[in-house]
Amino acid sequence: MNTTTAPWAAQFSAAEIDRRALLIGASSAAAGLAAQAGWSRETNAAEAWDLIIVGGGTAGLPAAIFGARRGAKVLIIEASLQIGGTLFLSTGQMSAAGTRLQKEKGIQDSAQLHFDDVLRISRRTVRPELVRLAVDNAATTFDWLMENGLKPLPEHPILGAAHEPYSERRYAWGPEGGMSILEAIEPLVLAEEKKGSLTIKRGLRARELLQRGGAVVGVRAEIDSGQMLDFEGRTVLLASGGYASNPKMFYDLSGYKQYGNASYPYSQGDGYTMALAVGGFTRGKENYICGSPRIMASTDEPAVPETRWILFPERRQPWEIQVNARGQRYVAEDNPSVDEREKALVQQHDMRTWLVFDQAIFDAAPLGIEGWDKTRLIEAFKSHPVFYKADTLAELAAKSGVDAAGLQATVARYNSAQAKGVDTDFARKHMPLPIQKAPFYAVRQQGMSVSSTVGIGVDEKLRVIRSGGMPINGLYAAGEILGSGQLMGKSAVGGMMVTPALTFGRLLGQSMLPLRA
Ligand SMILES: Cc1cc2nc3c(=O)[nH]c(=O)nc-3n(C[C@H](O)[C@H](O)[C@H](O)COP(=O)(O)OP(=O)(O)OC[C@H]3O[C@@H](n4cnc5c(N)ncnc54)[C@H](O)[C@@H]3O)c2cc1C
Repeated sequence: MNTTTAPWAAQFSAAEIDRRALLIGASSAAAGLAAQAGWSRETNAAEAWDLIIVGGGTAGLPAAIFGARRGAKVLIIEASLQIGGTLFLSTGQMSAAGTRLQKEKGIQDSAQLHFDDVLRISRRTVRPELVRLAVDNAATTFDWLMENGLKPLPEHPILGAAHEPYSERRYAWGPEGGMSILEAIEPLVLAEEKKGSLTIKRGLRARELLQRGGAVVGVRAEIDSGQMLDFEGRTVLLASGGYASNPKMFYDLSGYKQYGNASYPYSQGDGYTMALAVGGFTRGKENYICGSPRIMASTDEPAVPETRWILFPERRQPWEIQVNARGQRYVAEDNPSVDEREKALVQQHDMRTWLVFDQAIFDAAPLGIEGWDKTRLIEAFKSHPVFYKADTLAELAAKSGVDAAGLQATVARYNSAQAKGVDTDFARKHMPLPIQKAPFYAVRQQGMSVSSTVGIGVDEKLRVIRSGGMPINGLYAAGEILGSGQLMGKSAVGGMMVTPALTFGRLLGQSMLPLRA
């Protein structure tokens, strides 16, 4: 397997994330690329496709499988040398109501309850027509994956994990997360490719949509050398993922910096550029969300998330306080709503927060860091760039970049609340120890998002539309290019990225795309 990275994705060093280094293959030499991908300039001549799918990932692959099974002549243009996209990295947590798995376990559920839950958790900030399409068809997608070998974890489905819980057990995933999904899908894709009903051009980056008379009629794609190839198609599906690995586009579209480097390197937002160039528009900027804070490997921006402190009170009650750059607390650290904790974090300067505690807490509290033992934690305070230790709070503040006067005042106020057993600022309940015994400790944490909030506007048939609502003929979109802002709204709603991506791809291929059968 080739593990070098294409030049345009090179800023995301493959060495930074092991799984990416192993799984993302792309060649840097155009000639080698063409040879490995098994195509040349000539093969493109005068070909016309019923369906061109830009991106062979979560949404694109089901669309290709079912489009090919309908007898259409289908082409996938895939920038990487491998199909799979974000499934290589995704946790692959899905939500679906009315599945066979639920029925086998005696769980009574319905798409309507799923819909109601999404509206409740998102506080009605989603695009309801898209959520409706997703939840009404999610069970069929999930059953299809299971028919093709997906084996969810034995205790699944569950109510939730790390996001607001659902009201019914409909949340499930396989032992390898997104890879478990890909393992179910990939053989089906390769079977269609082998039959000749599906063609995959790997290592080719779509750049532009071809238009005639206002309709989209094909795709212009680039090889590394800069050479362009044109592909004519009756229908084009943009399934090229989000923009979360493109910090500039991330900022331009969302208004927030991308602090994390943990998304698929090919999530460069090319589909957005192409859709906007033919009259599409974006939606969902107002719904920016960040996940629970992560401990980054460095202070770079963006940086690779390395681990996280367990800030989920259902798993571990907090002994520490969390402060912002002014040294002030900003949330009840034991607030049971992850959504409320995350919303408070987004409002902090640079979405940054510091855990602060003392030696007594260090000695008495259960270990709070994921995947580390105490020895590693002690070591981190000697050498890790975001772990700090000092004999005084003022010194700790200076080392960690927090305002010293603010931190001292906050700790004094927290200690007084702890002594009285009443936190009048945030109503925190779990306050087992004061913070007073040197040395003092701080851990810098970062809010970040692995996905794209902003999405391209589509109608209920997943046709890309202009801001006035008119569809752009011949152009469809599915997957992260629709943005979390449309499908999860202003809250992380479990499974509502990967499940709609798979489901919309499946529906488009099966019936929604106007394909010549
Ligand atoms: C770490 C992580 C964890 C996640 N966990 C979850 C989860 O548990 N549950 C959930 O619901 N969501 C989760 N998500 C989000 C979800 O996985 C993604 O939103 C979804 O997989 C994206 O699907 P997609 O088809 O839009 O994009 P992808 O699967 O990324 O597919 C896009 C494809 O297009 C290709 N491409 C890009 N540009 C071009 C171009 N110009 N030309 C040709 N090809 C191109 C890419 O190489 C890629 O193969 C997670 C995301 C990440 C990063």
